[in-house]
Amino acid sequence: MIQTVTGTPYWTGAAKIPSQYSYLAEDIECEIAVVGGGIAGALCAFQLQQAGIGTVLVDTGLFGFGSTGASSSILQYDIDYDLIGLKELIGVDKAVRAYRACIRGLDEIEKITKDLGANVGFTRRDSFYYSPSECGEDAMKKEYLLRRHHDFPVEYLDNVKAADRFSFRVEAGIYSTGLAGEIDPYRFTQALISDAVSIGMRAFENTSVEVVTPDLAGISLETSTHHTIRAKRMVNATGLSAAKEARGVAQPRTTFCVVTAPVAGFEGWHNRCIIRDNGSPYIYMRTLPDDRILIGGLDSRVINANGIFARVMNTPAILQRKYDMLENKLVSMMTDIDNILIEYRFSGTSGDTGDGLPYIGSRPGYPNVLYDICCGSNGIVFAQLGADIIRDLYLGGNATDMDLFSFNRL
Ligand SMILES: Cc1cc2nc3c(=O)[nH]c(=O)nc-3n(C[C@H](O)[C@H](O)[C@H](O)COP(=O)(O)OP(=O)(O)OC[C@H]3O[C@@H](n4cnc5c(N)ncnc54)[C@H](O)[C@@H]3O)c2cc1C
Repeated sequence: MIQTVTGTPYWTGAAKIPSQYSYLAEDIECEIAVVGGGIAGALCAFQLQQAGIGTVLVDTGLFGFGSTGASSSILQYDIDYDLIGLKELIGVDKAVRAYRACIRGLDEIEKITKDLGANVGFTRRDSFYYSPSECGEDAMKKEYLLRRHHDFPVEYLDNVKAADRFSFRVEAGIYSTGLAGEIDPYRFTQALISDAVSIGMRAFENTSVEVVTPDLAGISLETSTHHTIRAKRMVNATGLSAAKEARGVAQPRTTFCVVTAPVAGFEGWHNRCIIRDNGSPYIYMRTLPDDRILIGGLDSRVINANGIFARVMNTPAILQRKYDMLENKLVSMMTDIDNILIEYRFSGTSGDTGDGLPYIGSRPGYPNVLYDICCGSNGIVFAQLGADIIRDLYLGGNATDMDLFSFNRL
């Protein structure tokens, strides 16, 4: 199994494990087996079971302890590529559709959290995408005009307007109203699984799927516990493992995060909005329900979550340097917030697809398997879109926007 997390992430570190599930101790049959109990597998299994499809969910380890447990869990319509960047890659119609799909995913997640009735830390937020330097001003204005042209609720902030809202230097930025959110990824994953189990889903932890054998009637999964799951179809929601198996549709990318102790207030931070700069690599920030700050980013493709540099040199010092850079950046930006103390430092590896979009659906040559590879900085919103698509495909209907995320675009 690929290791995706190092350090103690805030979510899994601070929460008690709400429910534990046994390993698979017998041969079983079901309609659909979802492999991987991160947010992608949990949302997918939840949607399938809700639709009355007999579902089994399994994970090698504990549910929610993969990339999901380290996620910054910002839900947003902005994709890794800004709208102009994505337009250049896939054309304007598809790029706008991808942005709108993320808004739909966010709306659906909000609705699910209300229906679940559990405290999963969901809050709707505004977002601010900005350039700290003059050289980004032109590009930011063009990006704003394109978003406005396509009716996204955006406002352009020049350095004067921005100074009224933020304590840090902004040359130009786009303030989007109500198109972002934040959630606790671990509690959300757990709440989805617990709800689905309450309506008949079967869930097994510490159960690795080791051999997959499709045939004309369905698919057989042999597990590390020496039992077989027989299903009509399987969903591969194993995150980076699925990406690796699917011939590298996503390359590993490590993100570094620090979380502060609770702070007394958020002076100089308008509406506690989600903040992201246009750097490469970029830095982003969100607040937590207990008044902490999470700052993350500085992504690297050559340092994995263990601080192994280019898979050769074990260099914890590199990790520490990233955490120090994040802390210094936070202190230098949030000058009106006193006593910023860092309590959690961790990093996690997710995947980076060429266009920032997920890979969802079937793959030529792999019968009865549906892939749900939802990585990158919108992984959670993509996981919701993936769950809808997989449910609709299983039921034989047309799935909205599946062309955007299909393997055919490779
Ligand atoms: C540091 C960091 C910050 C991020 N920030 C954001 C953010 O702000 N917003 C956002 O939307 N996304 C963010 N992401 C991305 C998002 O968190 C991920 O895309 C998402 O969590 C992926 O979920 P997943 O279920 O696909 O993968 P995972 O959570 O990794 O789950 C896969 C599961 O599959 C299991 N598994 C693997 N192989 C097998 C097997 N053979 N048999 C059984 N089980 C198996 C693993 O044990 C694991 O639990 C971030 C990611 C990281 C690492």
